[in-house]
Amino acid sequence: MRPFILFFFVAAAAAAQERDFALKQLSPKPVRFVVNTHWHGDHTGGNAEFADTAAILAHVNVRKRLISGGKTPFVEFPPVTGKALPVVTFDQGISLWWNGEEIRAIHPGRGHTDGDTVLWFTKSNVVHMGDDYFAGMFPFVDLSSGGSVRSLIQSLDLILGQIPADARVIPGHGPVTGVDELRKYRAMLDGAVAAVRKGLAAGKTVEQMQKEKVLAPWEDWAKGFIKPDVFIAVIAEDLAKK
Ligand SMILES: [Zn+2]
Repeated sequence: MRPFILFFFVAAAAAAQERDFALKQLSPKPVRFVVNTHWHGDHTGGNAEFADTAAILAHVNVRKRLISGGKTPFVEFPPVTGKALPVVTFDQGISLWWNGEEIRAIHPGRGHTDGDTVLWFTKSNVVHMGDDYFAGMFPFVDLSSGGSVRSLIQSLDLILGQIPADARVIPGHGPVTGVDELRKYRAMLDGAVAAVRKGLAAGKTVEQMQKEKVLAPWEDWAKGFIKPDVFIAVIAEDLAKK
């Protein structure tokens, strides 16, 4: 087992304890619904623990990718079987009428992967963005799972066009923010894509753009695990695709 994966499992076990503690504060009753925001193991690894009481819901591509398993540039996720798989799948979205409110599960299109779901708790005024939102940092966009930086911008526009300006926004990684921060994140992505597109149009290689630090105007966003050099390469690879 490679060290990163081992660390991942140790972190997951600690996170599971934290999660169970947080759930108990909310209600002693069992969880009835689990929505997977996408297929990555750090967002689906707890499915089996809930499957006896909860229906697991996800975009149709989440179920497909869980069954096949797969590799991202950072970690390999083995195939998932049995009760850990979603039992309800959807394409565009689905609404849960639960706890006195409509909870909208929206697939805004490709973004972090090709199976992302945003959850909008309409009465609580809370939006869970899954990994379409890395708050305050360059995102990991998983091109090998059908993700796209350009499509992510469009997906964010679709969500920003629907949610109230005073909603609380939960990212897949990073702190809870407001809608303003989500708009700034969208603007950063747009600027970064434009910068790399400009470099490519001028005939520059990825290495040249890395050396010239074309993402320097957004250096504040480099505090996550995706560093500017990696993000330049990901954007260039995305732009090279049709
Ligand atoms: Zn992810």
